[in-house]
Amino acid sequence: MRVEPRRMYCPNCGTESDESAKFCRSCGKALPGTEEQVAPSNVDTFDTSRGGAGDVPAGPAASYGAVPHIPNYLVQAILVTVLCCLPAGIVSIVYAAQVNGKVAAGDIAGAREASQKAKTWAWLSFGVALGLGVLWFLLTVVGGMGATFLEG
Ligand SMILES: [Zn+2]
Repeated sequence: MRVEPRRMYCPNCGTESDESAKFCRSCGKALPGTEEQVAPSNVDTFDTSRGGAGDVPAGPAASYGAVPHIPNYLVQAILVTVLCCLPAGIVSIVYAAQVNGKVAAGDIAGAREASQKAKTWAWLSFGVALGLGVLWFLLTVVGGMGATFLEG
């Protein structure tokens, strides 16, 4: 078994070098045959980042677990309607009545929307009633005082 040293030639200048030489003895350029081949095919390409254990789906499972408490503002709607007798109170009652039905049907988003509308219309009714109350106060008390003043 006689090992013959493989002769190599520098790709840069063509100078003959032996196999063990890492650099050309003439020009000093690195010889390609002596460089260690890094095999990219040996790299483990298995993707371990996919399918994390902590990724719990927060979709339907979370909503089925506990039904969120959504205020329906039905009491407020009835109060402003009874006390003020305003159409806005009726609208508020209509939306308030939809909240529980939508929650029971699983329409949480719709229930929240109806709840918000019920609250908005209840406050709107309350605000209009407050404004009418102030107006009534001005017309009766101040106006009455004015009438009394004029009569006196
Ligand atoms: Zn060379």
